[in-house]
Amino acid sequence: MAATATPWRRAVVTGGAGFVGSHLCSALLDRDVEVVCVDDYCTGSARNVDHLAERPGFTVLRHDVAEPYRIDGPVDLVLHLASPASPADYLRLPVHTLDTGSLGTRNTLMVAREHGARFLLASTSEVYGDPLQHPQTERYWGNVNPVGPRSVYDEAKRFAEALTIAAGAAWGVDTAIVRLFNTYGPRMRAHDGRAVPTFIRQALAGEPLTVTGDGDQTRSITYVDDTVRGILALAASDLAGPVNIGNPTELTIAELAQRIVTLTGSPSELRFVARPTDDPMVRRPDITLARGKLQWEPEVGVDEGLRRTIDWFRGNPGD
Ligand code: NAD
Ligand code: UDP
Repeated sequence: MAATATPWRRAVVTGGAGFVGSHLCSALLDRDVEVVCVDDYCTGSARNVDHLAERPGFTVLRHDVAEPYRIDGPVDLVLHLASPASPADYLRLPVHTLDTGSLGTRNTLMVAREHGARFLLASTSEVYGDPLQHPQTERYWGNVNPVGPRSVYDEAKRFAEALTIAAGAAWGVDTAIVRLFNTYGPRMRAHDGRAVPTFIRQALAGEPLTVTGDGDQTRSITYVDDTVRGILALAASDLAGPVNIGNPTELTIAELAQRIVTLTGSPSELRFVARPTDDPMVRRPDITLARGKLQWEPEVGVDEGLRRTIDWFRGNPGD
């Protein structure tokens, strides 16, 4: 990604040792922004940021953001990504996920408030639940089961959005909310349970690809470089959002699996397995707002993004 001038000198990235967060830390350092990565490694790993250790201005604070914390020195941007994100992770860590979305968001808003920094919440298309509006605009309120298994994530993010808006109104924090759609790319964990890394791992091992249900459900997958560019464009703007960031190219999950089989040249077949409870049927962002106000749109097509991700997994097969 080309480095451009930025309005920030020092940023805090919570969840910076995770998949998206680690790419965001790199992109900020590329723009000469110092970065404090705050992470408890519950789903991330020091390995994701080891390559940044020697970069000037990069520091890591191992900390659970659900516990209060302070950051010494100046901060002018806070990017709040800390949260388990894969369904397998948040189902394994239900209370931690809720604590992170609620207490963790409050504590991180306090950091932004103390420093007078702009605060950006990484929210999710999951706030739309199993959507009854398609594609999803930011004006859609969503269709979430508040007591279903996915609610620990969906409701944590919905609460985090409400808290972010409240902190803007009550404390005068300069806030923004980005709603990310399914993002994929290098540094996803091979066993994190999400569709893209699971299918790539299975295809490269010559194992059947485990497609849930009949595979007719859809997702719109975004390559991580596009997601990072969208997050930084929103951070650099004066928009409060929420703003959808996602690639509107919509695929059924069976199509996604078949594409990965083709791109890997794998002999694997698709195996249809049970569909999880409350698994959303469709997902596609309306990105009119991001296009119009941020001049953002995805640049990496699905095949190209999958190729890059497959190449990375060939060299990093995971545990
Ligand atoms: P990830 O699991 O790879 O990264 C999350 C990071 O947050 C991990 O490093 C984890 O250790 C850290 N973390 C979690 N709880 C924490 C806590 N209490 N204190 C400190 N650190 C904590 O997930 P990801 O895919 O990189 O997602 C990053 C963010 O983007 C999440 O907030 C997620 O909800 C959001 N998001 C991601 C996607 C996607 O498809 N990847 C889509 C929508 C939204
Ligand atoms: N999925 C699948 N096989 C897997 C993992 C996921 O068919 O091994 C399906 C899952 O049921 C969902 C879609 O792929 O319909 C996307 O799942 P993912 O966990 O990647 O993202 P999310 O459900 O959060 O959108």
